[in-house]
Amino acid sequence: MEQKYPFKLPNLPYPYEALEPYIDKETMMLHHDKHLKTYIDNLNNILKDYPMFWDWTLEELIKNIASLPNEIQEEVRNNAGGVYNHFMYFDVISPIENNKETPLLKQKLIEDFGSLENFFNLFKEAAKKQFGSGYAFLVIDKNGNLKIVNKENQDNPLEDNLYPILLIDVWEHAYYLKYNNRRGEYIDSFMKLINWRNVEENYMNNKKGQ
Ligand code: MN
Repeated sequence: MEQKYPFKLPNLPYPYEALEPYIDKETMMLHHDKHLKTYIDNLNNILKDYPMFWDWTLEELIKNIASLPNEIQEEVRNNAGGVYNHFMYFDVISPIENNKETPLLKQKLIEDFGSLENFFNLFKEAAKKQFGSGYAFLVIDKNGNLKIVNKENQDNPLEDNLYPILLIDVWEHAYYLKYNNRRGEYIDSFMKLINWRNVEENYMNNKKGQ
């Protein structure tokens, strides 16, 4: 997330097949090597003629879209968002044996959503109801409370001064090969793969960042 222009495709932090049978190897290869790579290439291409933004991070680009030249605002929103969202996506999931809710975040989820079960249900519901391409996010608001929000396309809650710590990609490319139109089954699988240690790290970093 600290990357600046020119942005580079990071290695996936686990093998492509490591999330089987929940997310299949071919989907992971396409999603990481093709979809994410395309967002990175597009973003570099847009920024190549704008050296004044070469030392901006993804977060700075997304939070300050309104101060960018008009002619690149929409493309930066789509592509910096696409890079940020996918960096986070591949980071917040991992092979199932690594994943357990971490004590601190667990406590916070219970405080803000009443129970872990309620959080899981609300997050899954948000992912299911997203119409068309987009994401459900778990974010920290300016008062330090956790909230669930939806965003379409590659839009990001940073634009609304909300700090994402977890997201689920519900674009069809994230699940269609294996699950076809059964988005709900993909969501149930994704929930098993959440790397709570990394989500807690995002929580701690963003709390400090505010
Ligand atoms: Mn995606």
